[in-house]
Amino acid sequence: MLPTRAYATHSPTDELKPFDFERRELGEHDVLLEILYCGICHTDIHQARNEWENSTYPMVPGHEIVGRVAHVGSAVIKFKEGNIAGVGCFVDSCRECRNCRDSEEQFCERHTASTYNSTEMDEKTPTYGGYSSQIVVDENYTLKIPENLPLEGAAPLLCAGITTYSPLRQYNVREGQRVGVVGLGGLGHMAVKLARSMGAEVTVFSTSPSKEEDARRLGAHNFVVTQDPVTLEPLAGKFDLILDAVSAPHDPNLYLNLLRRDGVMVLVGAPEKPLEVSAFSLIMGRRKLAGSLIGGISETQEMLDYCAEHNITSDVEVIPIQAVNEAYERTIKGDVRYRFVIDMKSLQ
Ligand code: NAP
Ligand code: ZN
Ligand code: ZN
Repeated sequence: MLPTRAYATHSPTDELKPFDFERRELGEHDVLLEILYCGICHTDIHQARNEWENSTYPMVPGHEIVGRVAHVGSAVIKFKEGNIAGVGCFVDSCRECRNCRDSEEQFCERHTASTYNSTEMDEKTPTYGGYSSQIVVDENYTLKIPENLPLEGAAPLLCAGITTYSPLRQYNVREGQRVGVVGLGGLGHMAVKLARSMGAEVTVFSTSPSKEEDARRLGAHNFVVTQDPVTLEPLAGKFDLILDAVSAPHDPNLYLNLLRRDGVMVLVGAPEKPLEVSAFSLIMGRRKLAGSLIGGISETQEMLDYCAEHNITSDVEVIPIQAVNEAYERTIKGDVRYRFVIDMKSLQ
């Protein structure tokens, strides 16, 4: 077994603190990554605090992982020692069901082994995430990080990047379309960069007036402060697609009303309480409300290659792991521009 250092939480009300555990020895298809950077996703906070009521402890969060390949199993073909590789939100799945065969492994019909707060395919062995010194993952669930990307800015692509890229592609966002992004956080700022790069006219809907300049720098054409719903009225019926990346309870009807006929609002944010949708928000204009969950392995690789081609990475604030608890508080307050990323050297 491979002794591994990490930060873990032991209950919904605990802070994260140092934790030692063991990773499995490498199987023939496994790679061992020495973790260099790991992003802090709001999902880490929801799960560390059991806000979705499915948490198991001890929990080592972290699913935006970039590392250096330290060893490879005897049958590995995709990676060599020294390569830079990434791991996102899951580390295994059944590989046989319809969704796995379609490379939509995040929807595996048997069991998606999430990177943490989950179990391996035996559905017994707990998985531990990226706030740790190293990780062992099957090469088929490991991504290649293109060489021109800065590593700390690439880490958030493994969740925030793919979670926003996937629905933009699913709904074929293109030039001439109007896209709205609700919530300028980790996911939201990636959605702005990606939608802009696909040619859309992008509008940010935000509760934070102080983010306007950033929104425009990130590529948004318009910025709307949402505290007063009256400001949204002139925009009714104007949008082809709205991506809702808000982490807390809010009123989705405000944004549904901004969709044109047959427009789609995609929820990627996952607040802990149900959202209330008025039937009229949907039946008027035959609008659609949809959801999306990260993306499969092949689409994640496509997104990484797309980002390399378009020079897209996350705007990050790099922190030592000792600052992780403070970073959680600051993320909840919206005080991050726009993703905290842990420099794992600090875990020595
Ligand atoms: P984040 O960085 O904390 O950003 C969330 C943003 O939501 C904030 O920056 C803020 O933007 C807005 N917001 C926060 N509280 C609000 C409130 N009370 N009312 C209205 N707006 C509020 O979080 P994130 O990491 O981007 O994650 C966002 C959500 O997506 C989380 O729920 C996370 O669990 C979920 N998620 C889902 C998937 C998926 O596959 N579907 C993947 C990753 C994450 P403004 O300041 O601009 O208002
Ligand atoms: Zn995430
Ligand atoms: Zn499957």
